[in-house]
Amino acid sequence: MKKITIAIDGFSSTGKSTLAKQLAKKLHYIYVDTGAMYRAVTLFAMRAGFVEDGKIDKKPLIQSLEEIDLRFVFSTNLGFAEMFLNSENVEKEIRTMSVSRNVSQVSELAEVRKKLVAMQQTMGADKGIVMDGRDIGSVVFPDAELKIFMTASPEKRAVRRYKELLDRGEDVKYSDILENVQKRDYIDSHRAISPLVKAEGAIDFDNSDVSMDDQFQRIYEHARRIIQKEA
Ligand code: C5P
Repeated sequence: MKKITIAIDGFSSTGKSTLAKQLAKKLHYIYVDTGAMYRAVTLFAMRAGFVEDGKIDKKPLIQSLEEIDLRFVFSTNLGFAEMFLNSENVEKEIRTMSVSRNVSQVSELAEVRKKLVAMQQTMGADKGIVMDGRDIGSVVFPDAELKIFMTASPEKRAVRRYKELLDRGEDVKYSDILENVQKRDYIDSHRAISPLVKAEGAIDFDNSDVSMDDQFQRIYEHARRIIQKEA
């Protein structure tokens, strides 16, 4: 069976990664969470003191980019790959609110995007991949056979994120999360390089009122039809 590329883009906390993981598992494809890569670079920058409260010291960060080694290591326990930054498992730390507060600012830098997009294109060179992010269908894989653009209301997304962070034991306020979701939406959609846009040929999917199971079934059926046509 011929393999395809599946690009899933959309606003934060729209359930992109849940859908992408489900599709990858069912199709025996590789799953790549590109947000984790931008988050890991942000964590590196925060630890080095290059970014604080969304303000970036661009020059030293850009000069240090070659010191940043990013790897996904598959965890059989979890059933998905975890993010490693310079050989350290940072999967939990990159999901914290402090990283979320700085990540969109770091992601605006052209040099950061250039490095990560090149890595992503290498990972997906043989197809059989489900990748989620903001610019996958528009920049990383504009020729992807299936592109999905996910949306949901900011309030629904903030509630999802709030529950996720509470489950992880973070002490967070719903209002801070809603503000962070809206701020990232704005920066991600208005930046000069590779802004979040619906890619040409992408299918719109608003999952404000759709269950995760329903969403998976609909998109999986669609993916199967495309794969059969390609075969
Ligand atoms: O997907 P997630 O919400 O974890 O992404 C975190 C941030 O990383 C986004 O808000 C965005 O600023 C950045 N990002 C990006 N391009 C991607 C993936 C994520 O700019 N392909």
